Amino acid sequence: MTEASDAEGLRITVLGSSNAIPRPGRACSGYLIEAEGTALVADLGTGALANLFRVRAAEDVDAIVISHMHADHFIDLVPLRYALKYGPRTNARKIPLWLPPGGEAMLRRLVGAFARESPHDFLGEVFEVAEYAPSGTLSIGAAQLRFAPTVHYIPTFALRCTCGTSSVTYTADTAPSEDVLALARDTGLFMCEATLLPGERETTRGHLSAEEAGILSERAGVRRLALTHYPVETTPEELLSAAASRYSGELCVVDDVDVLVVED
Ligand SMILES: [Zn+2]
Ligand SMILES: [Zn+2]
Repeated sequence: MTEASDAEGLRITVLGSSNAIPRPGRACSGYLIEAEGTALVADLGTGALANLFRVRAAEDVDAIVISHMHADHFIDLVPLRYALKYGPRTNARKIPLWLPPGGEAMLRRLVGAFARESPHDFLGEVFEVAEYAPSGTLSIGAAQLRFAPTVHYIPTFALRCTCGTSSVTYTADTAPSEDVLALARDTGLFMCEATLLPGERETTRGHLSAEEAGILSERAGVRRLALTHYPVETTPEELLSAAASRYSGELCVVDDVDVLVVED
């Protein structure tokens, strides 16, 4: 992993690298993506907000995009709401919060449990809540986002973030998927989930093993593979070895607050 200036390409800070069950001292999914002065957060799962605060103030985020409405990908929106409402801020700007189709109704049902605390709009006080159209392109400052449906238990969208000639593609949660493969084609950095242990079988497919992440990456021709969303029962060495058996390119396993830079 390399450090580079904020002015070029994309800079990704891992806010959480665990699968749905946080590893000790580690958060679930979240990624801070910086693109030529634009800062967006892709997912904000269990514990990811504490890692965001290690590198950036809550108000200094230009937008948040959520891949799907599983707690390990969005639940820290709740403490973020408290940070934005009650924490120290130098401006009152509302942060655009882009949810997947159907996500707004689900999130409003969840935070409805806090209604007595805030008789008016619990979310709307601090967020501009909207749902993205997965077939379209979403522009956030210098970044352009495209989406692809994944193979998962609920509607879920992988995203590809492009800035100039640099791109990062993030699988969110998925089983092997031709749509995700097409989205990731020739991407500079592929942040790919590796939830399943070797030999683990799902009755309904919704995740990848590290070996399957390697197969997907090789077929998509990605320039670099970063494995993430992995459980405590494995080691980075095991993940690397399984993915490397199927993928010939540059490969790493990320940990919380790792920084990856994409310059091409
Ligand atoms: Zn997940
Ligand atoms: Zn999920």
